[in-house]
Amino acid sequence: MYSSSHAAIGTTLVAGGFIAGGTGGLIVGAAVAVVSHLFVDYLGEEPYGDLTTSAIWELIPMLIFAASALLSGYPMVFLVGWLAGNLMDIIDKKLYLAMFLKNVDPWYFFHKGKPKIKLDLATTKMYAFMSCIVYVTTAIIMKGYA
Ligand SMILES: [Zn+2]
Repeated sequence: MYSSSHAAIGTTLVAGGFIAGGTGGLIVGAAVAVVSHLFVDYLGEEPYGDLTTSAIWELIPMLIFAASALLSGYPMVFLVGWLAGNLMDIIDKKLYLAMFLKNVDPWYFFHKGKPKIKLDLATTKMYAFMSCIVYVTTAIIMKGYA
């Protein structure tokens, strides 16, 4: 699944942990967020298509994520959520550099199985859109928590 969905699940878990138990809760939330990656990857995304379309559907959620993180008052909670939710992709995709480095070893540690549910393009885009709603909602909740 794309990073926007992993970020939404990861940030929700980390923020929930932080609200429930402070720094300790944040750590527990981050651990659960790392494991959540395996389950979110049961959903197989449909590629967005050409580079421009991909850039739009990757970049806009990323910008909304960054804005939500800043407006929440807890940007570190969002950052930890993004990192924890995406950690398995960061490791397996070699810090996302693999797409630029053609000769990188294709060996994957966390991505050995295939997705169980194949999404169509409209559903893949709907997940990106829903992720943005989750970012904003989490920011509002965190703002109220302050
Ligand atoms: Zn993955």
